[in-house]
Amino acid sequence: MKLYSTLSGTMEPLIPIADTITLYVCGLTPYSEAHVGHAMRAVIFDVLRRYLEYQGHDVKHVENVTDIDDKMIARAAEEDITVKELSERNMKLYMRQMALLNVLPAHIYPKATEEIPTIIEMIQRLETKGIAYDISGDVYFRVRLNKDYGKLSHRTVDGMRAGARMEIDKRKEDSMDFALWKSQKPDEPAWDSPWGKGRPGWHIECSAMVSKYLGNNIDIHGGGQDLIFPHHENEIAQTESFSDQPPMARFWVHNGMVQLGEDKMSKSLGNIVSLQDAFDSHSPNALRLFFLNSHYRSPLIYREDILESQERALERLQNALEPSDSTSGMLDVTGFEDRFVQAMDDDLNTPRALAVLFDLRREINRARDDNQDVTSAQSLLAHLGSVLGLQLDYVTDNSGDVAPLVELLIKTRAGLRSAKQFEAADHIRDRLTELGYTLEDTPGDTTWKRS
Ligand SMILES: [Zn+2]
Repeated sequence: MKLYSTLSGTMEPLIPIADTITLYVCGLTPYSEAHVGHAMRAVIFDVLRRYLEYQGHDVKHVENVTDIDDKMIARAAEEDITVKELSERNMKLYMRQMALLNVLPAHIYPKATEEIPTIIEMIQRLETKGIAYDISGDVYFRVRLNKDYGKLSHRTVDGMRAGARMEIDKRKEDSMDFALWKSQKPDEPAWDSPWGKGRPGWHIECSAMVSKYLGNNIDIHGGGQDLIFPHHENEIAQTESFSDQPPMARFWVHNGMVQLGEDKMSKSLGNIVSLQDAFDSHSPNALRLFFLNSHYRSPLIYREDILESQERALERLQNALEPSDSTSGMLDVTGFEDRFVQAMDDDLNTPRALAVLFDLRREINRARDDNQDVTSAQSLLAHLGSVLGLQLDYVTDNSGDVAPLVELLIKTRAGLRSAKQFEAADHIRDRLTELGYTLEDTPGDTTWKRS
């Protein structure tokens, strides 16, 4: 497949370095619960992984947890709980929400606080090489020694320096130098280190985890576009200075941001839709469909009406899977899977891949009207849907499960009708209709179907 890399600014063929494709995605800072933007990032990289696995690759997927930083410390203090308690609470919720979204769990979720020795080791090596320097317990990265600095975000150091806001820390050699280790402030959690008690900076955490779990040259490093600078730029600088073996990652893949109106959804702007709020009014499946209906590198505007329409689009796909007993000749579905693969090979073009699914659905409905056997077309639809992480077999299975309950309600309604309690009987019929089960009265009998 071809994938766009922010580093080269072009689409390039993805040729795995080794048998297993290594994928690292920057994860959550669990100071509060996840919002819709986090869900989009998770779904996009889930689909990338699912597609690579569908193509027969093994994928090793690591996602970090930034369980110590300024925001974690501030929020824990506000709530009068420990940073660890805060992290555990929000991570538990996040993992539950990811399961609802049908996001495959990463193979490893390393936590910053559990990787301190690896982080210290990396900083020490950078210090030995003269790339890191210590000023009374704070350790910084010497940006000017890194000739490649700016290669990911496609900026020059001088340009960045001009754009940088006034630095608070005047002790740094250069305003562009960034912290690798921060000395302990009063009441902050801290770990012993060669530079005294303190805690790691954010960027070094990812470099250390990538190196430890996936190596110094990985296939794909992912995250939101908001992480390109400075976070990912700094990760590259650290890791490549540490290993002297560029590139840290063959592909730097960045998803677009979810917006609410004109602005990026972010805590600082206060325009957040929490994932829980989204789940309260929309199914996780519809939310996934919403993310995939636009290309992953484009910004995505969160709109209730569009999510509503995804819910109906999803129903249309699911209804095409309704079992059918027509048997006169198998519907030929040659070409659909190839078109799906072509779309996905083209920088994960999920909107085009979804269009193939909807074409297939239309073909199934047409063939069913012609009394053709659609079973293999249906399993192809469900299979390709699953590559996108859509749970399309859900309703089919479910309608099997609910059948006895619907039959029971129909019998109850018949009983009410013969007792002339028409209001109660109509209530049952109306509620079933609302739930998507249409009753049809024929003389002496009532049948039902999913609408
Ligand atoms: Zn990171």
